[in-house]
Amino acid sequence: MISSSSRPGAASHAQVITPGATLGVLGSGQLGRMFTIAARRMGYRVHTFSPDQDTPTGQVADREVTAPYEDLDALRAFAREVAVVTFEFENVPSDAVHALDYIVPVRPSGAALYTAQQRGREKAFLLERGFPTVPFARASTFEELLDGVARIGTPAVIKSAAFGYDGKGQHKITRLAEAEHVWNELEGREALVEKFVSLQAEISVIAARGLDGAIAEYPPFENRHSNHILDVTTAPALIPAPLAARAREIARAILEALDYVGVLCVEFFVTTDGELLVNELAPRPHNSGHLTFDAAITSQFEQQVRSICGLPLGSTELLKPAAMANLLGDLWADGEPNWAAACRHPDVKLHLYGKTQPRPGRKMGHLTATGRTVQEAQDTVVAARDALLS
Ligand code: ADP
Ligand code: MG
Repeated sequence: MISSSSRPGAASHAQVITPGATLGVLGSGQLGRMFTIAARRMGYRVHTFSPDQDTPTGQVADREVTAPYEDLDALRAFAREVAVVTFEFENVPSDAVHALDYIVPVRPSGAALYTAQQRGREKAFLLERGFPTVPFARASTFEELLDGVARIGTPAVIKSAAFGYDGKGQHKITRLAEAEHVWNELEGREALVEKFVSLQAEISVIAARGLDGAIAEYPPFENRHSNHILDVTTAPALIPAPLAARAREIARAILEALDYVGVLCVEFFVTTDGELLVNELAPRPHNSGHLTFDAAITSQFEQQVRSICGLPLGSTELLKPAAMANLLGDLWADGEPNWAAACRHPDVKLHLYGKTQPRPGRKMGHLTATGRTVQEAQDTVVAARDALLS
C-alpha cells in the first residue's frame, strides 16, 4: 500500500541521489550486507563504517572504514565521501550522528534515532502519542525500580534501557524481592520495567517512508522466537484482517509521528486477550523482513535504498507465501552444516553473512522458502534447516 501526503518540503527531482552516487552505512553486519547488495544492484557504491574488519558489510562494500564510533574525525572523513548516511546498527552515540549531520544528510534523522535507540525514550514517545504498549515504568535508581515493579505488578520483565538485542539484558521476575538481584546485574544502567503479558502471537510491520512523505508497508509477518532470538518468520501473518489493518495503520502513524525517512520495523505483541500492543521499534530493516528479498516485489533493503535516496518507494506486495528460518552458530557445533542437503529443496534460498566465527546464538545466515501456503513454506524451510544437520 503506498500513499502520498503532500507536505511542504516534498522531494523534488533535484533532491534525488542518483545511481552512481556513494551511500554510507554505519554498522557492518548482515543488515548492512543486504543493504549493500541491494544498493549495488541498483548501481550505487557503498562505504561502511564500524570498529571491525572483514565484516559482513565490508566484504561486499566498495570501501570498509574501520574506526570506533567515538572517532569523530574518522566519521567526518567518512561523511565527506558519501551522498547520504544510513544505519544498519542503531546503537551509535548521538555525538557521532551530529558530527555527520553537518556534512551530509542522515536518514533516518538523528532525532528519530534518538527516540528509537533507547527503550525508555521509545516507550515514552509511544505513550505520549497514544500508541498502545504494555504497561511500563522507567527506573534510573533502585528505589525507582522497586516503585516501578510495585506499580506494574508481577510477573514483570526488567530490561536494560539501552543496548539490548536478542533478549540480552532482560530478566523476568515473578516476585518483587527478585528486583534487587536484577538491579545488581544492570550495574546502575537505566532500566525499563514491563508487565509480562501472555502472548498469542508476535507480529511485525516493516514500513518505509520516502522523502516526499509517501509510506509503503508490508503486510504483517508472524515471528516465533526461541531463547529470545527470532527463530522463524512466516508471511503473511495468519491473523484476523481487522488486526492486520490496525497494525499497518499504527506503523504508518508511527512513521508520520517521527517524521521518518527510511525503513522502520514495528514489533507488536498480540495478547491472549486479542489486544494489539507495540513492543518495540527498530529504526532500520529487520530480521523478520529478510524474506522480502526472495518473496516480495521490493525487498526491505531496496526500500531502504529508495527511501534514503529520495526515489519513489517500490511495491510491498508479496509474490507468494513465505517463511524464513534463522541459522545460528549452534548449527556448526558438529562441523560444517550440510549445505547441499538444504539446497536440495528447490524452493529454498540460502543466505550466509560471511561470518567466520560460528558462536552459539550468533546469526550466521538464514534460509527462505516460498510455498503455495504459509504452512507449506514454513514446513519447507524448517525441513531444509533440519537437513543441514544430516
Ligand atoms: P529485543 O531487543 O531483545 O528483541 P524485545 O523487547 O523485543 O527485545 O524482547 C524479546 C522477546 O522477549 C520478545 O519478542 C518477546 O518474545 C519476549 N518479551 C519481551 N517483553 C515481553 C513482555 N513484556 N511480555 C511478554 N514477553 C515479552
Ligand atoms: Mg525485539
